[in-house]
Amino acid sequence: MSTSSVTGALDAWRGLPALQQPDWADPAELAAVTAALAKQPPLVFAGECDQLKQRLAEVSRGEAFVLQGGDCAETFEGSNADAVRNKLKTLLQMAVVLTYAASVPVVKIGRMAGQFAKPRSKPTESRDGVELPAYRGDAVNGLAFDPASRRNDPRRLMDAYHASAVTLNLCRAFTKGGYADLRQVHAWNQDFVAQSPAGRRYEQLAGEIDRALTFMKACGVHPDEFHSVEFYSSHEALLLEYERALTRIDSLSGRPYDVSGHFLWIGERTRQLDGAHVDFLSRISNPIGVKLGPTTSADDALALIERLNPDNEPGRLTFVTRMGAGRIREALPPLIEKVHGSGAAVAWICDPMHGNTFEAPSGHKTRRVTDVLDEVAGFFEVHRALGTHPGGIHIEFTGDDVTECVGGGHEIVEDDLPQRYETACDPRLNRSQSLDLAFMVAELYRH
Ligand code: PEP
Ligand code: MN
Repeated sequence: MSTSSVTGALDAWRGLPALQQPDWADPAELAAVTAALAKQPPLVFAGECDQLKQRLAEVSRGEAFVLQGGDCAETFEGSNADAVRNKLKTLLQMAVVLTYAASVPVVKIGRMAGQFAKPRSKPTESRDGVELPAYRGDAVNGLAFDPASRRNDPRRLMDAYHASAVTLNLCRAFTKGGYADLRQVHAWNQDFVAQSPAGRRYEQLAGEIDRALTFMKACGVHPDEFHSVEFYSSHEALLLEYERALTRIDSLSGRPYDVSGHFLWIGERTRQLDGAHVDFLSRISNPIGVKLGPTTSADDALALIERLNPDNEPGRLTFVTRMGAGRIREALPPLIEKVHGSGAAVAWICDPMHGNTFEAPSGHKTRRVTDVLDEVAGFFEVHRALGTHPGGIHIEFTGDDVTECVGGGHEIVEDDLPQRYETACDPRLNRSQSLDLAFMVAELYRH
């Protein structure tokens, strides 16, 4: 295909139904902002996206495990050094638990540096008789419940680009600049060890890793892999104007890459086969994912494969299932059987969060840690029974000590929810709940 037909095809989505797109306050301003975004430097590079695709191909072959996570909705306010470091530290701790206790290479993908837009089930929100447009993520409007904040402001797309750049820069510095060195396994836990059972359990494992490293050093082995970490960014590709403006033709391959993040996924609400999101993501070369909820049929899954990975390129397509703890054991097997039977190379990841949300009596949206753990357990059971590979987990978590999900080793009850309920959207696992989950996944993986 010539360059002009490639770029023309990148706009085919404009003629298709695009769900969940904001009604922008000022279309002329939107055009000006997207034109400016189109001139901004890439956040990620084609070669990095290809490398992640290789890693995900390993996952699809059963040779590696994905740990993908971060906030439900990142915020501009949260794009600061402390919050990003805490998230990254938690992700690194979880990854170490999985790598060591499950003896499996872990592909680390942040739900970070771009997760600024949210699909909503209702277009408006009412409080005390006042109705305003729903919050759609910091890339669109503000969380505060007042008319000025809830205006869908296109200038926020540029702010989202800059917040992504700042966050990704921090992540790159932390993971390449010595902080992620395996000899720091104790340091990541220092502020945490005395606080929770998960912290103490981690400390024991870190001690074992230390001894192993000292042994290897004594043997004269010190590979580069111990000193830095391969880290990738991801977000839901929801706002098509933003994603289109950040899509570039790679000069080496002549292929289009969406350089807003390494891995992009299509949400449960926007995965219509003839919709704009599926069309747009079918045309970029990044590794991509699709969320699959409990109403997905096996034929839907096959049709998505046909549209999004017709050449059956390993690592290109990941299915992120989010069935709910009560449904996964029935809903997942028919999908896996038919997809596996078709010979399609996909990676399967479990999102144990989005099928398990409910409202507490206080009105807080929450999730039970026991449901989260049960969905992950069901995911492993189903894959083990079918002889397929449970390829990873996709979670909403934060490095801070929030009280948004109930349960966990360091028990949070429904009455505790108001104490530190800080999420801009869905409830996240806190640090000790995240570590508990990592230990459980490592055990499931081993057996
Ligand atoms: C999300 O990941 O925050 C989300 C909205 O998920 P889903 O598309 O699976 O509902
Ligand atoms: Mn969410």
